[in-house]
Order: sequence, then C-alpha cells, then structure tokens
Amino acid sequence: MEDCLFCKIIDGEIPSKKVYEDEYVYAFLDIDPKAPFHAVFVPKKHIKSPADINAENSLYVAKIYEAISAVAKSENLENGFRVVANCGKDGGQTVGHLHFHLLARRYLQWPPG
Ligand code: AMP
Ligand code: ZN
Repeated sequence: MEDCLFCKIIDGEIPSKKVYEDEYVYAFLDIDPKAPFHAVFVPKKHIKSPADINAENSLYVAKIYEAISAVAKSENLENGFRVVANCGKDGGQTVGHLHFHLLARRYLQWPPG
C-alpha cells in the first residue's frame, strides 16, 4: 500500500535489519528498541490493525505466531518473552500496518504502564 512505512520495509524501499522472512511474514529489528531484543513481525499484506483481522486474513496471524516461535528458538529466548500488538489511538499504535512486537532479554513488568 502506498505511503505505508511497513509496506515499504517489506518491499525493501526502506532498509531494515531482517530477522525472519517467509511467504507470509517479514520481521525486523525495531529502530527504537524497548528491550535488549525487540523485533517487529508484520504480515506481507496490508492489514491495518488487530481490529481488521478476520476470517479472510487470519492465516497471516497464525503464520506470524509460527515465525515468532521460530525466532524465539533461534535467538535462544528460553527465559521467556512478550508479544504485543498495539491497536489504535488508546492502544498506542503509531504505524497503521498490523504488527506484533517480540520483546525479550529483560524482565518485562506486568501489567504494563
Ligand atoms: P507501534 O507503536 O506499536 O505502532 O509500533 C511501531 C514500531 O515501529 C515502533 O516500536 C517503532 O520504533 C518502530 N519503527 C518505526 N519506524 C521504524 C523503522 N524504519 N525501522 C524499524 N522499526 C521502526
Ligand atoms: Zn502496509
């Protein structure tokens, strides 16, 4: 989609540090990490937010969780990790392309602020 930051990252128009890629998923290191390991997983289809997941596109979400599990293994995140999907204004979403944060390598407080 035009003018979408994450679509441009998927297309390689904007550089990123890739951590994972397959037919459905692209994942890269967050430019402003909130934990020692912080990757962002995005579907290779422009879906706006968690509020736009439906029966037609939910396969992308399943594939993202499979990718997260694979990266957690390859990065040896055996101490645990957190997966976060911010949604809309109150959810703190700043990029309008569905994404899942994978945060790890520090203790992550619960509940978050
Ligand atoms: P959110 O605030 O949940 O919408 O998450 C968007 C995330 O994208 C933030 O954690 C940003 O630091 C990250 N981000 C923004 N621009 C880039 C970029 N060019 N490369 C990597 N991560 C980015
Ligand atoms: Zn997009």
